[in-house]
Amino acid sequence: MSEPLLCELSVPGRVGFRFPEVDVPQAPLPEGMLRQELPLPELYEVDVVRHYTRLSQLNHGIDIGFYPLGSCTMKYNPKVNEEVARLPGFAHVHPLQPEETVQGSLALMYQLQEWLKEIGGFAGVTLQPAAGAQGELTGVLIIRAYHEANGQSQRNKILIPDSAHGTNPATSAMSGMRVVEIKSDGRGNVDLEALRAECDESLAGLMLTNPNTLGLFDENVEEVVRLVHAAGGLVYGDGANLNALLGIVRPGDLGIDVLHYNLHKTFSTPHGGGGPGSGPVGVAEKLVDFLPGPLVDIIEPGDDEEPPLYGFVYPKKSIGRVKAFHGHFGMMARAYTYMRMHGKEGMRMISEYAVLNANYLRARLRDVYHVPYDRICMHEFVAEGRWPDIPDIQALDIAKRLMDFGFHPPTNYFPLIVHDALMIEPTETESLQNLDAFADAMIKIAEEARSNPELLKTAPHNTPVGRVDEVKAAKELVLCCGFRSTDLSSK
Ligand SMILES: *Cc1c(COP(=O)(O)O)cnc(C)c1O
Repeated sequence: MSEPLLCELSVPGRVGFRFPEVDVPQAPLPEGMLRQELPLPELYEVDVVRHYTRLSQLNHGIDIGFYPLGSCTMKYNPKVNEEVARLPGFAHVHPLQPEETVQGSLALMYQLQEWLKEIGGFAGVTLQPAAGAQGELTGVLIIRAYHEANGQSQRNKILIPDSAHGTNPATSAMSGMRVVEIKSDGRGNVDLEALRAECDESLAGLMLTNPNTLGLFDENVEEVVRLVHAAGGLVYGDGANLNALLGIVRPGDLGIDVLHYNLHKTFSTPHGGGGPGSGPVGVAEKLVDFLPGPLVDIIEPGDDEEPPLYGFVYPKKSIGRVKAFHGHFGMMARAYTYMRMHGKEGMRMISEYAVLNANYLRARLRDVYHVPYDRICMHEFVAEGRWPDIPDIQALDIAKRLMDFGFHPPTNYFPLIVHDALMIEPTETESLQNLDAFADAMIKIAEEARSNPELLKTAPHNTPVGRVDEVKAAKELVLCCGFRSTDLSSK
């Protein structure tokens, strides 16, 4: 299948717009703005709309089908979130407007900060970071600033369990920290012996993902936190997996000092395709003064007649601003709407169903796919995408074959501590029928792997683009309008 390029559809003289009569004095454009050499296609509006609509249908998205991409929490994005984010009063504000003219937006940000504090068990929250990874950077910079303020600038070592997301070591390295890996024990918990051995004078902190990337709640989390604190370190919580904990466990109550939330995962703001995301950071009391500024606060309390007056404040020892203006406000409006629509009871149900759905799939698949750390999981679990009796078949083949059944593949080859990992996160928004259809497809693929392995090796067969040569695709990126779906296919 080959899509024509827009430039191939071009016919000289066709236009898709008509300007109204000029009713202001004409002025020449500044020099250099008009470029004759740009090969812009000439098309009717309908040609352009059809072209892009067709292209959009070549892709898989959460509005099309099941998307069990582990760690990414690809839950359905309720459309009411979009309606609220598009309200003119929110969509059309300018970040340089005087504070008294954007009180509604500030009220929303303030309330969101308060709810995130409550959900996470923290004393302060910044909404600035643009994504989880930037939240991590913010958090580790706060940890560094805290140690420096205490005359402990020799603390430059960050411990990271081997089950961590790749952003954790990257963030620590970017913050000028030394990264030391801690191995997991046989049950998928942080190995306490390995941790003890690294608890010394140079310890700045530990970055803990809980539940971890195996989808497991660390059974020794309180001991882990105690050991790090006793050695003078702080505990960073990677909150990307908060979808398992809402209304059940508050990371702050476990002793975690600083944590990022992924609004685009847990709180259903859309992601994939490059963002924008939002990665607020919550901190314990002792770190509040280090938060990036400005934060939204109540400047004058309201009363029966007047609402409170909101404004911006700067924490005393702030690490400074981490994002232009105030972060991705559209994401805040969506997350706020999601929280209000669900309410307190709904929040807890989100996590209960996310955990139930993951355990249902784990129970349906564990006899067919080896689950190496096989205990009650949280919102996701990791299976092996290989079998000892068919060494030729790998996780990649299973993932590609799943696309023929209309499912997005699970995350594969991550976490690294499981061979040929298939990391499956169904989320709470899938029905029992959808879960069963996915499990049936996985079981069928396991049968095909033995009866007709070639079918897996050459998959996918029903998608617009066939099996991509991944090395070539990564080394020879084709990102311009010259893309054709057939260029990428090895078929
Ligand atoms: C997604 C994720 C991150 C990074 O978050 P981004 O918003 O993608 O930057 C970090 N840690 C874990 C465990 C994640 O799943």
